[in-house]
Amino acid sequence: MDTIFALSSGKPPAAIAVVRLSGPHAREALMSLAGRVPEPKRVSLVKLRDREGLVLDHALALWLPGPGTVSGEDMAELHLHGGKAVIAAVEAALAGSPGMRAAEPGEFTRRAFANGRIDLAEAEGLAELLSAESELQRRLAVELAGGSLSAQVGTWLEQVLLLSAELEAQLDFGDEDDVAGLDPAFFARIVALAAELRDWLIRPRTERLREGFRLVIAGPPNAGKSTLFNALLETEAAITSAQAGTTRDVLERNVAFDGVPFSLVDTAGLRGETEDEIERIGIGRAEAELARADLVLWLGPEGEGPDGAWEIETKLDDAAHAAKRMAVHRVSALTGEGVAELKRALVVHAQDALPKPGEGALNARQARFVGEAERALGSITAGLDPLLVAENLRVARTGFDRLTGRASTEDMLDTLFGRFCIGK
Ligand code: GDP
Repeated sequence: MDTIFALSSGKPPAAIAVVRLSGPHAREALMSLAGRVPEPKRVSLVKLRDREGLVLDHALALWLPGPGTVSGEDMAELHLHGGKAVIAAVEAALAGSPGMRAAEPGEFTRRAFANGRIDLAEAEGLAELLSAESELQRRLAVELAGGSLSAQVGTWLEQVLLLSAELEAQLDFGDEDDVAGLDPAFFARIVALAAELRDWLIRPRTERLREGFRLVIAGPPNAGKSTLFNALLETEAAITSAQAGTTRDVLERNVAFDGVPFSLVDTAGLRGETEDEIERIGIGRAEAELARADLVLWLGPEGEGPDGAWEIETKLDDAAHAAKRMAVHRVSALTGEGVAELKRALVVHAQDALPKPGEGALNARQARFVGEAERALGSITAGLDPLLVAENLRVARTGFDRLTGRASTEDMLDTLFGRFCIGK
């Protein structure tokens, strides 16, 4: 097994650069670079030298003997001065040490998974945490990386294992006549579990947080779309002008309001007829955007927006503005009147369509396996041949095991027999 190393901190130059090592040669590499192996889990100041004895850097070194480390292997950390040349020199010295090589992307986590330190759901949570851009995303990812979903799947798996064990006992030891007569509570438990899985399946997916709630601002040219877009963004991302048709294309910005991620889309004016080729393309894209939107803010004439759109009465400050009888919100993008209220309402609305921390959510991969388990359990009925019941329970178990990446029949048998007294 190679020992891997990588710069684990951000892009240099920076004040400090952290180089991590993981694998059986980590100790040896520390010894050769620092001249000694520091006390385990204690920070030590060391002089790093190359093979000629030339000092590379004064650094902090950590020796973290496995298996109680994040990767499950022997690990070391070097906290260097974060200059590009310092990092390059230390990396070159490490690459020249026996058994060492630069890590592949994600390889530390991969080793953690291979060594059973984390399961797939936790690894996915970690990935989400590293890419989290909004507060909501961070909160959900922290739960996932901390094993909240893994624990949940563990309880599902345990329930199915118990059901399987009870059924197997019936099949092995029951009389022929008894086999058909399983306890009605047995089936009620399956129905309840299937319902719980369905409840998880209808929740918004984790990926929704990465994309953000898709908010499209639509209406005819000059309705004030770009001005509202800017007011919501509080920047000058879109160009506004009094001339009709200036927003020729779709403009999209990711922004978080109150920690909730939005993808804000400003569309080209939906003007039916135009001679301008580019503008026509823009209108086509705007129509496609309306179809993809989670919510449309409609700035055009009342009642002419797409179904489900919020009627927004805008240009409130202008006495000549078009009033709306049933406006959901009334704003002036120019003076900012009503914009904060609109934002607050959007946050509340979007939170409902996005995964909620504390409630748990599945990503597409996890949902596929929960879906498989739900279908298998859902097809079990009291009248079903017990052998088919057993088979469906097995399919459900496999789904959970594939979700956590811990599909191992040995493990399953251990749990099954550990929980169930066969002599009973
Ligand atoms: P779009 O074509 O729908 O994107 O419209 P724009 O945002 O470019 O706005 C068209 C014109 O209306 C510009 O001259 C804006 O300054 C003006 N406008 C937009 N919002 C407001 C508003 O709230 N109050 C006033 N008085 N003028 C506005």
